[in-house]
Amino acid sequence: MARRRQIYEGKAKILYEGPEPGTLIQYFKDDATAFNAQKRGTINGKGVLNNRISEHVFTLLGNIGVPHHFIRRLNMREQLIRQVEIVPIEVIVRNVAAGTLSKRLGIEEGTQLPRTLIEYCYKDDALGDPLVAEEHIACFNWCSQDELHDIQDMAIRINDFMSGMFAGVGIRLVDFKLEFGRLYEGDYSRIILADEISPDGCRLWDMVSGEKLDKDRFRRDLGGEVEAYQEVARRLGLLPEGGDNAVLDLESHRKKKS
Ligand code: C5P
Repeated sequence: MARRRQIYEGKAKILYEGPEPGTLIQYFKDDATAFNAQKRGTINGKGVLNNRISEHVFTLLGNIGVPHHFIRRLNMREQLIRQVEIVPIEVIVRNVAAGTLSKRLGIEEGTQLPRTLIEYCYKDDALGDPLVAEEHIACFNWCSQDELHDIQDMAIRINDFMSGMFAGVGIRLVDFKLEFGRLYEGDYSRIILADEISPDGCRLWDMVSGEKLDKDRFRRDLGGEVEAYQEVARRLGLLPEGGDNAVLDLESHRKKKS
């Protein structure tokens, strides 16, 4: 059997050449990194859960008219996507102060922000993805002004939709990261949502207990990463109720396991 051509390997995913021109296969790994890959580990089964969660969120976003790269899930760890030219900006959307925002500005984690905040980081591992202003994006032409407007509009729509979706299952959407790409159609290109949306790139807190259900469990050595990701999938209706994978109460589940 011919080996597929690998296009790119990132920290959590691998991209392979797709079956048709203009398509790629996105493979979700179990590898976890944090703090610009200074901390590395494995979260068993993370790739399977992120593939499923991302499929779900992208499909729902498509249903409300957000254009995206997802075509269909192929198997447990792979999805077929449209090939895009990634805009070299990480778009961070924040509803509640946490993480680097809290550190940078001395705002206590958990403080509700007076309005939704959008931040931009320049995608460059060697530089540690530095925070940049809209002025830098324009100055270095990382994307055009029109493209940035489309990105901002989509980021706000995505935030509104996802905040409601997660609130409906008792989860507070604190913040998250988005990536966008250019889809070329003849002489024209348009901006579409790319990458993934999963607990790797979102902060998700249980609305009642405040428990973290995202990658901060790994970043901050809290343990229970797999159970937290499973819990998000379960609440979104993506895991069978009552099955082995169902984790209703993280604390008792952990006790049972140990
Ligand atoms: O670390 P920070 O507070 O800036 O992260 C804000 C949000 O963006 C978090 O949800 C985090 O998971 C996400 N993020 C990411 N990838 C990065 C930086 C941040 O997914 N490289």
